[in-house]
Amino acid sequence: MDLPVDEWKSYLLQKWSLLPKSAQATISIAETLSEIFLHSSSFLQSEDERFLNRLSQGYSVGKDPNASCFYREEGNRKFQEKNYTGAAVLYSKTCLNDIIRALMHGYPERLQPKLMLRKAECLVTLGRLKEASQTISDLESNVTERPTPAASPFQILQKNLCDLKMKIQEKENLPETFLTAVAKDFERMDLREENEQIPSASSSVQLRTDPLKGRYLIAIKDILPGEILVKEDAFVSVLNPGEMPPLHQGLESRWDTRITTGDLYCHKCLKHTLAMVPCHGCSYAKYCSQECMQQAWELYHSIECSLGGLLLTLGTFCHIALRLTLLARFENVDKVVRGICDEINNKDIHLPGSKTLDKTFNYSQGKREEISKTVETQIPGCNIDGKYENNYNAVFSLLSHTENHSPEHKFLCALSVSALCRQLEANNLPALTTDPKAEMTPDSCADLNIWAVAMLRHLLQLQCNAQAITTIQHTGSKESIVTDSRQVRLATGIFPVVSLLNHSCSPNTSVSFAGTVATIRAAQQIRKGQEILHCYGPHESRMSAAERQQKLRSQYFFDCSCPACHCEKLRTATGPRWEAFRCNNCRALMQGDDVLSCGNRACPERISRNHLVSRLQDLQQQVGIASELLRNGKLEQAIPWLLRCQQDAESFLSAEHAVAGEIEDGLARAYAALGEWQKSATHLQKSLQVVAARHGPSSVEMGHELFKLAQVLFNGFAVPEALNAIQKAEDVLLVHCGPQSDEVQELQEMRSCLMDWPPILVGTQKDSDP
Ligand SMILES: [Zn+2]
Ligand SMILES: [Zn+2]
Ligand SMILES: [Zn+2]
Ligand SMILES: [Zn+2]
Repeated sequence: MDLPVDEWKSYLLQKWSLLPKSAQATISIAETLSEIFLHSSSFLQSEDERFLNRLSQGYSVGKDPNASCFYREEGNRKFQEKNYTGAAVLYSKTCLNDIIRALMHGYPERLQPKLMLRKAECLVTLGRLKEASQTISDLESNVTERPTPAASPFQILQKNLCDLKMKIQEKENLPETFLTAVAKDFERMDLREENEQIPSASSSVQLRTDPLKGRYLIAIKDILPGEILVKEDAFVSVLNPGEMPPLHQGLESRWDTRITTGDLYCHKCLKHTLAMVPCHGCSYAKYCSQECMQQAWELYHSIECSLGGLLLTLGTFCHIALRLTLLARFENVDKVVRGICDEINNKDIHLPGSKTLDKTFNYSQGKREEISKTVETQIPGCNIDGKYENNYNAVFSLLSHTENHSPEHKFLCALSVSALCRQLEANNLPALTTDPKAEMTPDSCADLNIWAVAMLRHLLQLQCNAQAITTIQHTGSKESIVTDSRQVRLATGIFPVVSLLNHSCSPNTSVSFAGTVATIRAAQQIRKGQEILHCYGPHESRMSAAERQQKLRSQYFFDCSCPACHCEKLRTATGPRWEAFRCNNCRALMQGDDVLSCGNRACPERISRNHLVSRLQDLQQQVGIASELLRNGKLEQAIPWLLRCQQDAESFLSAEHAVAGEIEDGLARAYAALGEWQKSATHLQKSLQVVAARHGPSSVEMGHELFKLAQVLFNGFAVPEALNAIQKAEDVLLVHCGPQSDEVQELQEMRSCLMDWPPILVGTQKDSDP
């Protein structure tokens, strides 16, 4: 997804292996990006481009009039099934613009208003009133603009519209919906006091640079848990296309009715919406509003629109690299471009506005940073007044680690960029010339190569600096009241301020997202003088030290020496409790490497690790089957299955083993779905112990699990216990996600609901509780 599709990757790697040794050597020893680009791209031949084009055509991103028909019928089916979300999304796919287009191909005109009306109905039912109003006004303007159909259907339509508007008004008069309240609150939330040097950071932190650490942030005051340290809008973000293999022949697979992130989130602002406004020119860019569509068009989409299939083939990183250079046109152009020009001219890497710097490279903890030899020169990425802002200059200053990437990877990136540029040229796009006012010397800067080298730099930077933008998606079958939340990756973005933070496998911060805005909060108390650290992905509770080191070395080019990695070297013989096995005889923990022996010296039990690992794998498979049953609502089968798994787990896994926790969590959800709240809560308590052992008692994972417990106790009407769980969950989640997060808001609603309940009823219920 980030990198090009496998077919293109292996095609280019084969091409690389067939290059003459001398050519490989030239590319391997090239020091500047422009040399790498020029040498590599000279090998791109038209047959390569043809191969790439064939791959790109596998993605249907154009407009197909027949697709509208198909989506309409599927939408009708979903409507009958009362699946209003699915229906609204599918009707959106056959949106107004599509339908106008379809009219030209003989699509029955009289169906169009009906379709729009039905979409509006879906949206009203779902309580998406703003989107419903928008659909109605689109419909109205469309109906009046064009010749009116025969009088009577038109009047029927008018009447229906009136009814629908009344419904919307009624609903609007109800107290504001939960979601809009959250959105409003988010606007209000902000940094307590803004940092003078870094506008997106709090005044409690300071930017420092040091030969070992590179650029980093430290606390200059004592910081309390939950305090916002950075709140930054992505400089650029590209929506994750979702797991969508290219579509091939056959009507069945031709139009995809699966709903992906691309159908639910605005391609510009990442807002969740069910009434998408599609681009006029392609089927893959969809927006929450006309404004977003307009802005995207002016900033970048006018150029990207015709490249949909190619960008999906080349991967998200290429897409971001292109968009970054497109966005660069709108700010500070001459300085930045001059910086790129310097590089083209084979001088050393110069950052815009800091040409005189003599840079050395330094290997260090976290991102390796370019360090100035002269101490008093400005920090890279800062402007002349020493400010570090969320702008192209700062993005350009992020490290590309050119010398660490393998030569074949650089070749792959250079050829992908080159192919993209040739396509831009072939499309004869005038927009790649920058602001005419920018001063550019014709010999160097007017060349498309400048853009190509900038794109190549971004492509290499992304490996270490891309930030996944995630959201918590609540899943669970319709009948289950207790939701299962899971983190999904929505988009990939570049956040120049967040990129200043170094990595730790046990970070002292927590990151959350609202649309394209990242918020970093202190996850614990941070003392004055301590470094602000966040986790690049390999977290101590999710990966072993060896896996983390491997990942950090291959992707980020450094060896981690954070406290978690340091301690792991001195770890206990049994390993972490969430991975520990226990003795079948006496239940003590087993220890050792290839052959495990019982920790209880009086016990003779010995067993090979391989045997235990294969037992664990069998068990995991069984748990997988049970989860599938649970997802499909087959509770009567899932529960005995899970109970068997639980019994098996008890015989050889520690009580705090991750898999044991998964089983308890599954049982808790199954019993909750049956309304057996007491049983559900008992299993959740066990699952909580596992989560606490693995992620820590104040981790965000603990918060999500406590949230479930609060839901169960709330539904089971165990008032004091519920209030207690609500308080605990709120305390934890406030620190990680802030007061405006969905879960915290829901907890507060639960609390006020319980507090409002007449005390007599509460008392009665409590007495009947076992
Ligand atoms: Zn939007
Ligand atoms: Zn488009
Ligand atoms: Zn570490
Ligand atoms: Zn034993």
